[in-house]
Amino acid sequence: MTDIIDGKAFAAKLRDRVGEQAAKFARAAGRKAGLAVVLVGEDPASQVYVRSKHKATVAANMESFEYRLPADTAAADLLALIEKLNADRAVDGILVQLPLPAHLDEQAVIAAISPDKDVDGFHVTNAGRLAVGQSGFVPCTPLGCMMLLTDRLGDLSGLEAVVIGRSNIVGKPMAQLLLDANATVTIAHSRTKDLPAVVRRADIVVAAVGRAEMVKADWLKPGATVIDVGINRLPPAEGEEKGRLVGDVDYAGAQDVAGAVTPVPGGVGPMTIAVLLRNTLVAAHRAEGIDLPEGAL
Ligand code: NAD
Repeated sequence: MTDIIDGKAFAAKLRDRVGEQAAKFARAAGRKAGLAVVLVGEDPASQVYVRSKHKATVAANMESFEYRLPADTAAADLLALIEKLNADRAVDGILVQLPLPAHLDEQAVIAAISPDKDVDGFHVTNAGRLAVGQSGFVPCTPLGCMMLLTDRLGDLSGLEAVVIGRSNIVGKPMAQLLLDANATVTIAHSRTKDLPAVVRRADIVVAAVGRAEMVKADWLKPGATVIDVGINRLPPAEGEEKGRLVGDVDYAGAQDVAGAVTPVPGGVGPMTIAVLLRNTLVAAHRAEGIDLPEGAL
């Protein structure tokens, strides 16, 4: 029997804990923790993400500041807004929704965010802190995966972990976190030879590729814990308006082989916003020099 890892329920509990601690923070600091989200242009998927981030922030007793800029915003104007938010004491976290329109240099924009407000953990300073084991901000999706893994498995020491995908926002930080937790880590990617054989070694598989149902049941070691980060929309079947959302793992096939697996949707996805709120609250405590009780989040 394969267990289903209920990321939605886990994320809801994390959001509740963040909400409680955020209320305590507001009493202690005399202000709420604040998250600023900057959206440039009108990408429909980004608009949905920004709206749900706003709602979740307010529901967690935090202040949400939203900046919607036109698609043709000049780089200098976006950088000036980031400078203003860096200096604003009501703003603890700054998130610039990606992707940006093509004329804007994402790396330059991320570099402009103060590392202490970079709650997405994308700034090179935070990537460096993670690499050398200093505390900073860790990207939300891999940190959420890590929370699900440690909740399920406890100590990860000595376990074989295979991360499929080497992006800066998921694969690489995921591998660093697993390494920090003393797992034996392999990063597989598009040039990996005999990927099924590599994945078959793994006690822990994290799939972050973006290819629908690529990881097959017979690639999995029986009993493996499988974290599926991928979000892929299948072409609509007959009579469907929109195709189904699926992950990078053949979810039906993984049943009865994997020890546990995250569903898509309802697995890793809901963790991302919950961790964003968590990171923002951590930033607020650091900014005000207020201790966050160990294990509170
Ligand atoms: P990306 O496109 O930046 O990286 C994909 C990685 O997959 C690359 O490193 C590439 O080497 C690897 N890859 C490509 N083809 C491969 C193959 N055939 N075999 C093995 N590896 C291969 O993607 P990303 O931003 O890391 O996102 C990955 C997936 O996770 C996407 O589906 C994305 O939508 C999803 N995602 C979900 C969340 C969430 O909140 N759940 C957050 C971020 C990304």
